[in-house]
Amino acid sequence: MEPVLVVGASVGGATAADTLARAGVPVVMLERDTSYVKPCGGAVPPVAFTEFDLPETLISRKVHHALVHSPSERVVEIEVAGVHRSDQDYIAMCCREEFDCYIRQRAVQHGATLIEGQLIDLAFDKEGVTVTYRERFGGARQELRAVAVIGADGAYSTTAKLLGLPNLPRCIAIQQRIRLPASKMARWEDTADLYLGPEVSPDLYAWAFPKSDHVAVGIGTGPSHSKRARELLANLKRRISRDLEGGEVILEEAHALPMEPREHMAFERAMLIGDAAGLVVHTSGEGIYWAMKSGKMAAETLIASLPDASLAALRRYERRWWKTYGTMYRFLVWLQKWGYGNARQMEVFTDMCRNLDVQRLTFESYMHKSMTPVPWLAQLRMTADIIAAQVRHYLPRRRTGQPAVA
Ligand SMILES: Cc1cc2nc3c(=O)[nH]c(=O)nc-3n(C[C@H](O)[C@H](O)[C@H](O)COP(=O)(O)OP(=O)(O)OC[C@H]3O[C@@H](n4cnc5c(N)ncnc54)[C@H](O)[C@@H]3O)c2cc1C
Repeated sequence: MEPVLVVGASVGGATAADTLARAGVPVVMLERDTSYVKPCGGAVPPVAFTEFDLPETLISRKVHHALVHSPSERVVEIEVAGVHRSDQDYIAMCCREEFDCYIRQRAVQHGATLIEGQLIDLAFDKEGVTVTYRERFGGARQELRAVAVIGADGAYSTTAKLLGLPNLPRCIAIQQRIRLPASKMARWEDTADLYLGPEVSPDLYAWAFPKSDHVAVGIGTGPSHSKRARELLANLKRRISRDLEGGEVILEEAHALPMEPREHMAFERAMLIGDAAGLVVHTSGEGIYWAMKSGKMAAETLIASLPDASLAALRRYERRWWKTYGTMYRFLVWLQKWGYGNARQMEVFTDMCRNLDVQRLTFESYMHKSMTPVPWLAQLRMTADIIAAQVRHYLPRRRTGQPAVA
């Protein structure tokens, strides 16, 4: 049988290739540049390490506390703990240059072939796909035949373009890796920070994610503010300038993130995964786990159906994905619009973060990707807190014209 082609050998593509290779399916990974480091905050949920059998040596720093800073600089401290406490409650901070490299090498060890080259064209026929790519070194055009294609080539997916699909709406995220003196680094020993406010992100959030020897400080913002990304990052650095004193910028990196999932992710002899399919979650911009998970699911679908790579066979991937995660995605889309809509809503969002039930349920679903049933008393407490916060931040302002600060 001809191989499956995986375009892009980052987290999603390498996971798909590894899954196929382990099942004995011939697979080729086409990566335009293996030295490329994906711009990324590198926050990974612990479940990724157990589910994808990753060594903890890939974790640069484990974080057990989070601080949420409201636009008016009220700060909520949150312990990173789920509903069922365990030593697996933490956020793993990783460096993508190490993380991606490990998964890619593992796929090769299990039998995947890695080609350094850039996808140029896909020609589908009844028996398979003719793939044209340009070699990274030398630039020669080459062709290969594949039985099916998995597009794991990120937010600007060439695979999606060649399938005739439109660009997805994209937000932009920009960050600097800043090396700090030890005295300043101590501040981030065990803590990650989330900053809310229109001057740092009018529609998403800003962050400081610590690694072993630096802190990654960045902002994300939607399409209507993407031209201001650098200005927003400068505002964030000004806002936390005391924490960054004596710091040295060692890298600045920026990239787009898709803002919504594609209508379809499975086609005749082709599937899209990760950012190429728009599978980043809204409220957090989290995409690493979802790229890996979708890569695994797409590969499992092929393993079960090959040599049949028809539309009907591959749509099983799409159906399984939305059956498992549809409700969660819809909720998080709503939460982003509700929580980051404007400065006052961001204050309400911050208040909501004070609620212990909200904290535990949020971290349970983030860290372990499990939806825990919410007891009615907790539902009542959360609803009451949200209504109280909503009233607190809106009523006084209407009367006095002043922003409400708790
Ligand atoms: C600044 C920033 C911070 C982020 N922070 C976090 C975070 O903290 N936690 C988190 O979970 N997510 C985060 N994300 C999102 C996360 O980076 C992505 O969701 C994730 O990398 C998607 O993985 P992927 O495999 O789908 O695609 P990508 O990681 O984008 O990889 C695509 C691969 O395809 C290759 N490629 C592209 N075109 C071609 C072509 N034509 N031919 C061959 N190869 C090609 C690229 O070189 C690349 O290796 C962040 C994103 C940004 C921009």
